[in-house]
Amino acid sequence: MKVLRLIRNYFFYCGIEREEYRELKRDAYISNFKLWRALHIMLVVVFATLFISSLLNGLMSVNRLFYLAALLYSVGAALCFFILKKDSLIAQFLIYLTISLLFLLGCFVTANKPELPATAFIVFILIAPMFMIDKPYFMAIELSVAAIVFLVWMYQVKPFEIWRIDLINVLMFTPVGVVLNVLANSIRIKEFVLTRQINIQKDTDELTGLKNKSALTRAINRFLSDDSTDKGIMFLFDIDRFKAINDTYGHDVGDDVISQLGRQLGGLFTADEIVGRFGGDEFIVFLKNTDDREKACSVARDILRVTEENVTLPDRAQKVDVSIGIAIYSGSETDYSKIFRKADKAMYRAKADPENKYCIFSE
Ligand code: GH3
Ligand code: MG
Repeated sequence: MKVLRLIRNYFFYCGIEREEYRELKRDAYISNFKLWRALHIMLVVVFATLFISSLLNGLMSVNRLFYLAALLYSVGAALCFFILKKDSLIAQFLIYLTISLLFLLGCFVTANKPELPATAFIVFILIAPMFMIDKPYFMAIELSVAAIVFLVWMYQVKPFEIWRIDLINVLMFTPVGVVLNVLANSIRIKEFVLTRQINIQKDTDELTGLKNKSALTRAINRFLSDDSTDKGIMFLFDIDRFKAINDTYGHDVGDDVISQLGRQLGGLFTADEIVGRFGGDEFIVFLKNTDDREKACSVARDILRVTEENVTLPDRAQKVDVSIGIAIYSGSETDYSKIFRKADKAMYRAKADPENKYCIFSE
């Protein structure tokens, strides 16, 4: 069973698990897009050279029309790669179309020289699968269909002795092409897995699993620099008397409090909002596309409530509190630090006022 699962994963998901593959599919499409944009430009150069050579060289003139057709197709397809979106399905389809046309070209070139064993077709069957990341069974089907079309076609146009050589070569090299595709796919997809893991680790706070400082500031700056929107609310908050919690219960309990608060915040906000640990016992939440003061107050009360109700200390009678500073984004700030300063001032006002655990910044 384990072997079957392994084979399934290699043929369907490039050697990784299905869920992981789904998350990386877009990266794979983008990688194919970039690679095949470059390959199509190369094809334009290759077919232009072959076409010009076929005009000058009598021996090559037999394939002149195919080179011209291939040149025109490559120019058109290359242009599409400058218009289409990088993760577009049409681009993926275009790549398979190009591969199919290359196989057809291999057939035409062989049919034009029936007295020689096929070379171009075998070269395409070995090379094309190396440059495509997708579910490898697609390529296995593509190669098998190409091999059958080639053999049936060549059976009609070639002397039997030569066709037999082609048959042996195709039977040998089609499986090699499939295996090369499986190997190339698994190597490249594992590169994506690693890059993704590194990116997640780089942006994630270890204790809470939320965004860390650099990911937070990057996300907020990206939002502030987006001209299409000028509404947002920043909440900056800090655990009250956290040093005392550390001193009384120890650093591990302090860590646990931070991690409990992180879990509560993760549950309170959607993935669309910016939520993270700024550092130490300080957290930031940034709500996008709203400047509603009522909403700001109600969210602040929610944060206070989940903290009071669900973040616990070994001595259950003791409560964990936070003080919240709120800054409403007016569209004038272009950098997170400007709005952060306002939220910070408001937070210290909230800390100083035992009656109010949250405060909205005002001049
Ligand atoms: P205030 O009520 O004014 O916020 O006072 P405070 O005691 O909470 O002090 P402050 O916020 O200035 O200090 C935060 C402390 O948090 C300082 C540091 O010892 C502690 N700390 C920072 N990072 C960590 C951490 O990752 N784990 C633990 N356990 N403690 C941390
Ligand atoms: Mg504190």
